[in-house]
Amino acid sequence: MDTSAKIFVAGHLGLVGSAIRRRLEAQGYHNLIVRSYEELDLTNQQAVHDFFAAEQPQYVFLAAAKVGGIRANDLYSAQFIYENLMIECNVINCAWRYGVKKLLFLGSSCIYPKLAPQPMKEESLLTGLLESTNEAYAIAKISGIKLCQMYRKQYGCNYISVMPTNLYGPGDNYHPEDSHVIPGLIRRFHEAKKQGLAEVVCWGTGSPRREFLYVNDLADACFQLMLLYNEADHINIGTGTDMTIREIADMIAATTGFSGRIAWDSSKPDGTPQKLLDVSKLHGLGWHHKTELKEGLKIAYEDFLKRYQ
Ligand code: GDP
Repeated sequence: MDTSAKIFVAGHLGLVGSAIRRRLEAQGYHNLIVRSYEELDLTNQQAVHDFFAAEQPQYVFLAAAKVGGIRANDLYSAQFIYENLMIECNVINCAWRYGVKKLLFLGSSCIYPKLAPQPMKEESLLTGLLESTNEAYAIAKISGIKLCQMYRKQYGCNYISVMPTNLYGPGDNYHPEDSHVIPGLIRRFHEAKKQGLAEVVCWGTGSPRREFLYVNDLADACFQLMLLYNEADHINIGTGTDMTIREIADMIAATTGFSGRIAWDSSKPDGTPQKLLDVSKLHGLGWHHKTELKEGLKIAYEDFLKRYQ
């Protein structure tokens, strides 16, 4: 992939796509193709065909997706399954039709069974029932992996799939209810501090365990894998360590400067009890994350303050 390669970063305005774009630009890639949702609706089959026919990209990072936290996944499940399946089918099929050399598909750690042994190995895929709060999204992402594998099997396409753990960082969605836990709590703690509130209520029991990866580290892993990984099997991207939601809430409170009480609303869902990826395959390729949570949260909070104005 030389620096003049024509690369389509699908979803360049989102958390992941924007980080991949920054990573490529920092490396000197200057022939990137990007489209906003208004310019190209990736769920529209004809529009995606017309786009690939006109632009003929050589490489694709497929980071476009309908995403959201535990509440959004549950509430908008029809949109989550429909839009993600359509995006994947349209982009992956057109990549084949119009001769894309290599495509990297981004999935999610929620593809694994709810009660998969921890840490979750790549081989755990399709060995048990999914967590119900994100089943729609998970089914769509599993289909994306399978699309890449079947296009490889039948047509010899070099399409690879990566499964990131829970992500956070600049460009996140800070919606008070539809976001993931880190951006959601950054906003809630910040607003509580501003309003001088004595208490912040978080969802669930606080006991589930999650692993968090800074999005610039994910973008770096995707870039490296695009250069060196050429296998049908998907590959996990994470840090290899997790913590309780209580612990992350305490860290976010400290980052934002909220010193009041943290209460837990156990009428809200916990989701899957633990989500920790086995990253030995990735470590075996020589890649490790660089940004620790404390530092990453500080950057994320600065990003929030800039955009919240
Ligand atoms: P998940 O990893 O798919 O479950 O996605 P989330 O990031 O949305 O949620 C992770 C965990 O954080 C769940 O156990 C939530 O119940 C818990 N949580 C606590 N407070 C919040 C909040 O304000 N927003 C979100 N999204 N999750 C929260």
